[in-house]
Formats: sequence, C-alpha cells, structure tokens
Amino acid sequence: MYDVVVIGAGVVGCAIARQLSRYKIRVAVLEAGSDVAMGASRANSAIVHAGYDCEPGTNMARVNVAGNALYDSWCRELSVPLKRCGSLVLAFDERDMEEVKRLYDKGIANGVPGMKILNRAEALEKQPGLADDVVGALWAETGAITCPYEMTIACAENAHANGVEFYFNFKAEKIITLKDAVEVEDDKNVLFRSRFVVNAAGLHSDDISHLMGDNSFTVSGRKGEYILLDRSVSDFVRTVVFQAPGPLGKGILVSPTVDNNAFVGPTAWNNSGKENSSVSQEGLDILKTAGRKSMPNVPVNRPITAFAGIRAVPSTGDFILGQSPFNPRLIQAAGISSPGLSSAPAIAEETVESLKKAGLSMQLRADFDPIRVKNKPFRLMTNEEREAAIAKDPRYGRIICRCETVTEAEIANAIERTLGVPTLDGIKRRTRAGMGRCQGGFCAPRVMELISKYAYIPMDKITKNGGESNLVVGRTRGEENK
Ligand SMILES: Cc1cc2nc3c(=O)[nH]c(=O)nc-3n(C[C@H](O)[C@H](O)[C@H](O)COP(=O)(O)OP(=O)(O)OC[C@H]3O[C@@H](n4cnc5c(N)ncnc54)[C@H](O)[C@@H]3O)c2cc1C
Repeated sequence: MYDVVVIGAGVVGCAIARQLSRYKIRVAVLEAGSDVAMGASRANSAIVHAGYDCEPGTNMARVNVAGNALYDSWCRELSVPLKRCGSLVLAFDERDMEEVKRLYDKGIANGVPGMKILNRAEALEKQPGLADDVVGALWAETGAITCPYEMTIACAENAHANGVEFYFNFKAEKIITLKDAVEVEDDKNVLFRSRFVVNAAGLHSDDISHLMGDNSFTVSGRKGEYILLDRSVSDFVRTVVFQAPGPLGKGILVSPTVDNNAFVGPTAWNNSGKENSSVSQEGLDILKTAGRKSMPNVPVNRPITAFAGIRAVPSTGDFILGQSPFNPRLIQAAGISSPGLSSAPAIAEETVESLKKAGLSMQLRADFDPIRVKNKPFRLMTNEEREAAIAKDPRYGRIICRCETVTEAEIANAIERTLGVPTLDGIKRRTRAGMGRCQGGFCAPRVMELISKYAYIPMDKITKNGGESNLVVGRTRGEENK
C-alpha cells in the first residue's frame, strides 16, 4: 500500500516525486517508458520562461512565475546547469510593438520582475546581430536556460535517494477507485495499491483522468521541430531571442544552450498526433526562414542534428492542477504544455498542498537530503583536475566520446546511477556521449560495450531507448555465431 503513486516520470512527475520525498510517506513513480524523461521533457526549448506570456489569473501564469523563482535553489541543490541569460521578444513593426507592450502588461499582472521595453539600439546591446528591421523588444532578465533531461534525471535521482521507488515499463491501463484507495494496473496485471494517484502522464494525462472518471478535458499533440547547431558556430547568440508570438504559441526562437550549442525552433504543428516525433523538410525550411528573420547571420547551414518534441496541449487552455472534482483520490498535474519545464518545481510544491488538503497526513522527514552530487564532467575540468581524476581512477584516461570528451569513468558512473535498465540514449542524456558533431557514429558501439560490461547485459539485448529498439541482433560470422 503506497500513500501516493505518481503516473509519469517526466520533469513534472519527477519534480513532484522529489517534493514528496521530503515527507514520511511511501511513494512510487510508475513510468510507461524505460527511463525518466522519455516524453516532452526530453525534447523541448529548455527555456525557464520569465512568465509574461501566460494569461493573468491562470494556473500557468501562477506556477510559471513561481517556478522560475525556484529554479536557482533547485538547480544548485541538484547540480543542474542554469544560465540566467535573459530573453528578448523581438518586434519587427508597430503591430509587433503593440504585442510587446501587451506582453509587458501581462508580465506586470503576473508579477514578473526585471522586464523592460527596449528600443532597437538597446535591443542590439543585449544581442548583437539582430535583423535590420527589428524596431524594439521586450527584455526579461529572469529568462533563463537549463537542461530539461538533466533536471528530470536529477529530480528522480534525488527522490530515489530519499526513498521514492521507481518502476519502468509500467503503462497504467486500468484504474479502480475503491472507498479509501486506488488500484492501478498495467497490461501484465502488475498492480499497485495507493491512497492517492498523481496524474503526471503528459500527452496521455487525459487517458489517466478518464480512467479515474474525470472526463473534463482532453489533450492533443502539437509537434515542435528543432535544428541544433554545431558548438563551433554557436557563439553568435547569447540570450534567448523570441519573435512576437502568434496564435500557436511563443513562436520560433534562436537560443544558446547550457552546453554551448545553439538552436533554432520550435515549429508548431497543431493536432500532430501524440506519437510521431519525426522531422519534416517543410519544418526545417520554416525554421531556417524564421531563424534568419531574427538573426540573418544564424548559421543554419552548420547543423549537427534535427529533432522534435510533442507538446501536451490541454483542451481547457490551462494546466489542470489539484484535486479532481470528479474523484477525490486523483490529484491532477495534467495537460502540462509549455511552460511546464519552467513550472515543474512550483507544480511540485502545489501538489503537496493538494494532497494535504485531500486528507493525506504528511510529516516532514528530518533526514531528507536535498543535495544531489554530480561529479564535474571531464570536459569541464582543468588540466590539474584531469590529472588528479586519472590518478584516482585510470578510467578517466580513456576517452570514449571524442566529440564531447566523455570518459569511461563517467559512463560507468552513469550506468550505475541509472534507475532502470541502462540504454544508449539514457547514457547519452546522462553523459553527453553521442551528442556531439558525429552524433554517436564513433562512440555508440563503445558505449554499448561498456553497458554490456558494467550492467551485465548481452550486446544484442541493449536497446537505444527501451522496448524493441535493439541495436544489434547478433553476430554475422565466426565461431561466436554458434
Ligand atoms: C517543442 C516543445 C518546446 C517546449 N519548450 C519549453 C520551454 O522552453 N520551456 C518550458 O517551460 N516548457 C517547454 N515545453 C513544455 C515542457 O517540455 C513540458 O511542459 C514538460 O516537459 C511536461 O512534463 P511532463 O512530465 O508533464 O510530461 P512528459 O515529459 O511528457 O512526461 C510524461 C510521462 O508520462 C508517461 N506516461 C504516459 N502515459 C502513461 C501511462 N499510462 N502509464 C505510465 N506512464 C505514462 C510518459 O511515458 C512520459 O514519460 C516545451 C514542449 C515542447 C514539446
């Protein structure tokens, strides 16, 4: 019997799990995928939005601004990168300037600190290289960038270190509400019994809600594609550069990443479905045109990869939070589209309050440890630090990923920290091995060998990202084929 099961191990579910781990309660996270950060939390713009974009008075506005403010302490405690680089919303004509003023007013109503309306010269001071027809911009000094999957992984690791249990490859398919408990079952008849369910199932949070008798909303997919640029050409952008938004959201942006790459994106394809995250030529063409509109010198001819994520767009137009009016055992963190990454820490705090109001007795644990320690990546060490690391553990002397300078010691450590079964993509997200210019062409087989060696998994059982995404099927010739 659990006190709470959280369905979904994206950034929202994992942030909630971390917050719940402060209390003397029994918590499990149930995730359909093979790892944390398998949904929208894996592929997004990584912006910690300031909060001027959301309609005043909405859940989104409240948790975005509160979440942004919590990011410094959460990232410090969890060793997650955060750069307060600020953000610009560009205006290209007088109509856009009206939009910029409207955003500013919404920001004031939402309580966003540090905003300013800039003229062209002031905007150029913040970000050189803007297009000739930029007439002004909204500046938000609290706009920031982070790493969304690192944030998710860090929340999960910290929650787990404080006692939360994680179960992967568990797709909740049947939920029965009893008088004082809920039973959650998957298609293999594995069953969890809990006092409360927290619904953090992203694109499928409507399904979970419907299973529990709350049909008050649906969720649709809105795909967004990106072009990621090579690090060697990425120093042209130092702040997040939005364009005045349109009906489908915040528009296409040009932004640096915390790993010193840059990107252009995302597109916004409404009703794109919930599963297909392929990238289209049409999307890439839109991104190139939009990127050049903001910054004509954006080096879109120097990509290292393209990718897409799918937003969970709720039919209500707002995040669905708190105790369901249709089922008191259901606490919603559902339909979390953008700015869900920015809002996750505040959604986590509010979820705790909702559980308390719903009647769960929650006492703080004296031994909760908020700190997640992560070793400094080898690529960021000084030469002296590298020498010391190699002297302590010679595996630091073996470079596995040449593009990102990732060592065997770091990969072994990531394998050990993985809460589920390690996969190639999981190790990539934890170490950056395979994220560089060759996109794993060189290191993928070596990472597989290390997964095999350290996690005792035969090579033909190692997957790219769980399920049936096996990378090799066996040997083609020789004695070993027998
Ligand atoms: C293109 C794009 C750009 C974005 N940019 C930003 C941004 O810059 N800033 C920002 O703040 N936000 C941004 N967002 C939004 C942000 O990514 C999401 O709000 C956030 O990741 C949602 O987290 P989540 O945990 O709710 O969902 P997810 O990360 O999707 O996690 C939900 C999890 O639930 C699991 N699940 C589903 N059904 C079941 C089931 N039946 N049983 C068990 N598990 C289940 C899924 O496998 C998944 O892992 C963007 C999103 C996209 C797609």
